[in-house]
Amino acid sequence: MAEGVLDNLTDKVADLITKAKRLVIFTGAGVSTESGLPDFRSPGGIWDSFDPDDFSYQRFISDESVRKKHWRLLKSLAPAAEPNAAHYAITELYRLGKLDCVITQNVDNLHQKAGLPGDKVFELHGNMQSLLCLDCGRRYPFDRVKARLDEGEEIPDCELCHGILKPAAVFFGEPLPQRVLEEATRRSRNCDLFIVIGSTLVIYPAAYLPDYAVAASAKLVIINLSATPLDGQAEVLLRAKAGEAMPRVLKRVKERL
Ligand code: ZN
Repeated sequence: MAEGVLDNLTDKVADLITKAKRLVIFTGAGVSTESGLPDFRSPGGIWDSFDPDDFSYQRFISDESVRKKHWRLLKSLAPAAEPNAAHYAITELYRLGKLDCVITQNVDNLHQKAGLPGDKVFELHGNMQSLLCLDCGRRYPFDRVKARLDEGEEIPDCELCHGILKPAAVFFGEPLPQRVLEEATRRSRNCDLFIVIGSTLVIYPAAYLPDYAVAASAKLVIINLSATPLDGQAEVLLRAKAGEAMPRVLKRVKERL
């Protein structure tokens, strides 16, 4: 996009945020990839070196060799990514009192790492930074389990009951966390401004949420590098990288407050 056009649209987004009473921000893979995390679907992404079938819940619980592969992958991804300018700009909107919540398709915990309180982040696909015992339900932070991997364990189990530990992210064949989805739906229906950042809006049911918002008369902004099925409904469409667009938007919101 030409600089002048971008400028103009950035102003429009800042105006909408300034006027909004309830802003919901929806983030997708585009926000994570700018932190250097691989996108599962693009060429060179995880699917190139990892069989998608291994991400099914069934195979994970039934096949020890699949679990071993998972832990190897988790260990290799562990030099954990850092939040980028988009995450920090979103947190700053929250501190300015301009954000109701973030609904995210990402499982990387980067919104929380950027300072957004956990109860303001609705993770539709769970969270990879937390491990869940499938038997007793105990949760462990990834760092604690990482220490065991570093000591040479290949398939860490639950410290209490030796049950299977699984990343608290949603695998194929697993339902989305129901309460999170319900609350995300409720907030999407009640917001007056819904901003999509870095999502192509093709993964359902997550992609229904902006629909709900628009149906309830909220204004829709889409900040994404490629087209989405909802582009035609957007009040403002910004073809830009999240990490470049959001700091600019934030700066202009601050000028208006
Ligand atoms: Zn357990």
